[in-house]
Amino acid sequence: MKAGNNTVVKITYQLRTEPNGDIMDAADETHPFSFLFGHSNVLDGFEKNLEGLIAGNQFNFELSAENGYGEYDEEAVVHLDKSVFSVDGVVQDDMLFIGNIVPLQDQHGNPFQGRVVDIAGDKVTIDLNHPFAGKPLFFNGVVLEVREANPVELEHGHVHEHGDHSHH
Ligand code: ZN
Repeated sequence: MKAGNNTVVKITYQLRTEPNGDIMDAADETHPFSFLFGHSNVLDGFEKNLEGLIAGNQFNFELSAENGYGEYDEEAVVHLDKSVFSVDGVVQDDMLFIGNIVPLQDQHGNPFQGRVVDIAGDKVTIDLNHPFAGKPLFFNGVVLEVREANPVELEHGHVHEHGDHSHH
């Protein structure tokens, strides 16, 4: 079976942001990555490069930043009062260190994440860009399995494996 819309594709992969750079993310045969093709679970460009592959095929491709996590946005670096990170009036200093990923909320209460890039006095600088924003993505890996999605997976829009459908 070929990878395409409404199939479940199981792969190993390695992700680098430079051709021979460090591995930034990976899935191996012990803990492979499965996704439901055609349901926006992965980057469009990622799917395009896997479309038509069958079990045993290797892949090796590059996505531009534009087709990856987008260009780096200088405007998405914000300066906040440390008091934003208070619980019951106490600033949570233990989460405010450079490089830490911190939880935030927009004005509608929707959660999102940012990365602490600077701390000065009672101000914290948070970078809201995705860690891979502005970077090309170099993927390689192997297709382990392609199967038809079952009706429940299609209804939910994601893969169910290892019997873990207790989540909803
Ligand atoms: Zn589900």
